[in-house]
Amino acid sequence: MTMFEDLLQAQKEFFWKGHSRDIDFRLDALTRLRDGIKSRENEVLDALYHDLHKAAVDAFSTEVGIVYDEISYALKNIRSWAKPEKVKSPFFMWPSRSYVQKEPYGSSLIIAPWNYPFALLMVPLVGAIGAGNTAILKPSEISAHTAAIAEKIINNIFPREYICAVQGAVAETQALLELPVDYIFFTGSVAVGKAVMAAAARNLTPLTLELGGKSPAIVHKDAVLADAARKIAWGKFINAGQTCIAPDYVLVHNDIKDNFIAELKKVIVDFYGEDASAHSRYCRIISDRHFARLAALPDKNKIIYGGRMDSAVRYIEPTLLYPSCWNDEIMHDEIFGPLLPIITYTTLDDIIRKINERPKPLALYLFSDDSAVQKLITAKISYGGGAVNNTILHVASHFLPFGGVGPSGIGCYHGKASFDTFTHFKSIVKSSSRFDLGFAYPNNKRISLKLLRKIMK
Ligand code: NAD
Repeated sequence: MTMFEDLLQAQKEFFWKGHSRDIDFRLDALTRLRDGIKSRENEVLDALYHDLHKAAVDAFSTEVGIVYDEISYALKNIRSWAKPEKVKSPFFMWPSRSYVQKEPYGSSLIIAPWNYPFALLMVPLVGAIGAGNTAILKPSEISAHTAAIAEKIINNIFPREYICAVQGAVAETQALLELPVDYIFFTGSVAVGKAVMAAAARNLTPLTLELGGKSPAIVHKDAVLADAARKIAWGKFINAGQTCIAPDYVLVHNDIKDNFIAELKKVIVDFYGEDASAHSRYCRIISDRHFARLAALPDKNKIIYGGRMDSAVRYIEPTLLYPSCWNDEIMHDEIFGPLLPIITYTTLDDIIRKINERPKPLALYLFSDDSAVQKLITAKISYGGGAVNNTILHVASHFLPFGGVGPSGIGCYHGKASFDTFTHFKSIVKSSSRFDLGFAYPNNKRISLKLLRKIMK
């Protein structure tokens, strides 16, 4: 037995004993998780600074605070979420009652990426615990400081047979994916997502995939340009563009392109000053490999703002690329860095078609106050989720399920959706043992095709 097989076996034994299903046990585990994070909060903030140069205020608002919020919301609601849901029964089942029982899957495996390395490990865990599962957590090896402190927090609070963090890169993750766990929750790239789904298919393991892709921001001709520029710059350059739902590129209406670009340049300076490298709230690229990929992406002739880079500290300035077009190399894959191509358009039909021809985006942002335009875009383009007259915000609400669609992800989580994701909805019909209508039995002479046609229509 390998180390991972042994760990899973221990978790299965623990789950079968039923401890993790008990609601008080779940509430206690979530409380301990919150207290454990609180007691090492400064170490988490330090780790995020070391990994991504993330300022404490951003590390708190986009990672640690989000985890606290998810825990508090789960603590308030788990009892009601976990209750069996009564549903009606068709009359031909009389006298029976029907309900949906909320059953934890069992042993879950949670695999996290490096860009929001703390939140994207812990928020799914809140769902796994809340729904009554055990969990093996695999943080990203690339955000090594955060991975280390996450392991320390988790493995100090919980026994390994309940929840355990393990470290590893590709080979270890592949070994974990071979395990017959009961649920896989993966956040990461599309390419690795495909490998995860193939591995899950071998064991027919249910899974959630939280992936990425190219998320457009559309600035229509009636948009309030200063507002659109401010919100796009914020969503794009937070975490130095290394956000799964960052606006990947901008589609701006021809009539207002010059004014919009002027506003965008202005707001970048307002946010980060003339030299973003000196600003305490501006992040760095996670690794040399990711820096090299990004440094090679922009067409130098199209840089109308920014473009300065420093490989020694993995700094890339907020950079605007104009005039960009759909065929540019930077438009092939998710950018995942602070480079913003700007493409112009004249008709909405044209961009609706262009977006629909490509893989379904994780997010889409529309800047327009015209309700007909809002209806058109939200109805005619398929994407995971998004915002009108804003960026990013939909990810921060525990009232909204968050996830992609098709190539940008399968399934969703946050708030109740996290509980539901880690829950199997088990349908039960409870019949009487005293009275039996005997409707379907072969010796029931009263049943006929004519009668059935009347009943089942
Ligand atoms: P990644 O896919 O490279 O890595 C994610 C995890 O998978 C890591 O833990 C890593 O160790 C593991 N892994 C890497 N290669 C593997 C392989 N060949 N086989 C098995 N496991 C492997 O992703 P990343 O670079 O850490 O994160 C960036 C990507 O994640 C972007 O595409 C981004 O859009 C996406 N993302 C999505 C969301 C979301 O909520 N939808 C959130 C954050 C990031």
